This record gives sequence, C-alpha cells and structure tokens, in this order.
Amino acid sequence: MERKDAVVNKMVTGINYLLKKNKVDLIPGAAKLGETGKVIVELNDGGISELAAENIILATGTKPATIAALGYDGQKVITSNEALILQEVPPELLIVGGGVIGCEFACIFAEMGSRVTIVEAMPTILPFTDRDAARQMQTILKRRGITVKTKAKIERVARTRRESLLF
Ligand SMILES: Cc1cc2nc3c(=O)[nH]c(=O)nc-3n(C[C@H](O)[C@H](O)[C@H](O)COP(=O)(O)OP(=O)(O)OC[C@H]3O[C@@H](n4cnc5c(N)ncnc54)[C@H](O)[C@@H]3O)c2cc1C
Repeated sequence: MERKDAVVNKMVTGINYLLKKNKVDLIPGAAKLGETGKVIVELNDGGISELAAENIILATGTKPATIAALGYDGQKVITSNEALILQEVPPELLIVGGGVIGCEFACIFAEMGSRVTIVEAMPTILPFTDRDAARQMQTILKRRGITVKTKAKIERVARTRRESLLF
C-alpha cells in the first residue's frame, strides 16, 4: 500500500507538472453547467467560480456500480475503489463479475493468499473479449487456485461472521 501510494503520488505530481508546463489551468472543485457557455465551480477551498468558454468538454468519467441487491456497505461488500485501499489481505474474497477488472483483482488477491471465487453471469469470463483468450484466461485462473463460476447470478447476500469480502 505504501508503495502503491508512492507510485500514485509520483504520477499525480508528474501530471500536474505537465499540465502547468503546457499552460493548462487546473481548478480544484465540483463543476456544473450554468447558462449556455458557462460553468459554475464550487471550489474545494470554498467559494464559487464562474467560467465561460465557447466549447466545453464533459469528461466526468464513471463510478463503480453498487447494485442494491448486493448490499454495498464499503466494509464487507466493497467496490474496486475500496479494494485498492484495503489494509489487510482478506482470507476469502468473492468477486461479482468476471470482466477485466474482476479477473485482474482475482489474480492480485490470489497471489497475496486470499481464497478467491469469481461469479460471472455469462457463459464465460471476459465475455466481451476474444473467445480463445477468455478460455485461456479461465485456465490460468484455475491454475492459480481461483474458483470460477460462470452462468451464475447472485440473488441475495447474507451476512455471516466469516471474514469474507465481496466486490
Ligand atoms: C480498478 C480499475 C482498473 C482499471 N484498469 C485499467 C487499465 O489497466 N487500463 C485501462 O486502459 N483502463 C483501466 N481502467 C479504466 C480507466 O480507469 C477509465 O477508462 C478511465 O479512467 C476513464 O477516463 P475518464 O477521463 O473518462 O474518466 P475518469 O478517469 O473517471 O476521470 C473523470 C474525472 O472527472 C472528475 N469529475 C466528475 N464529476 C465532476 C464534476 N462535477 N466536477 C469536477 N470534476 C468532476 C472525477 O473526479 C474524475 O477525476 C480501470 C478502471 C478501474 C476502476
């Protein structure tokens, strides 16, 4: 975690430097669109700033889906965001979704000693990639001791005293 934080900080510092060098103004705050050609920014250090531009690009990204039926709580039922700041390796981990991120995190945690299960609703993991590559990946996951359950959907989540995590 210390190394990960150091790498992230270094990259953020590097990007900030590049923005400055290329004369890009970075305004820390939450933006919303105002009237045509206007952006209202609630500044992180207090106050409001109003900007005007001829062209505005919305690049606000995405957030992990927190499906209500899974009972996301950020503690036992988490998203990849919390998985990246865990302070301890969970003994057991169930990953919902065998896409790229699910497979990536399965490998990371299995390597660190977690007993990992992936649940995927489609007939194969990585359903949107090349079929041969997906099959190969499934073999690799099994070889690493990761349990993969395809054509399986989570219907409900029950809390137990076991030290398991779900994301
Ligand atoms: C765990 C994980 C692993 C990934 N691994 C890879 C990988 O290996 N390779 C790869 O290519 N991609 C990977 N991705 C995907 C990649 O992170 C995204 O595709 C990429 O970050 C999308 O870039 P973006 O600029 O569209 O959005 P984002 O990177 O999400 O950036 C959007 C920014 O807008 C800000 N924002 C949102 N709303 C407002 C607002 N109202 N006002 C001001 N700011 C706002 C957000 O705070 C954020 O900083 C991964 C994603 C995850 C979650």
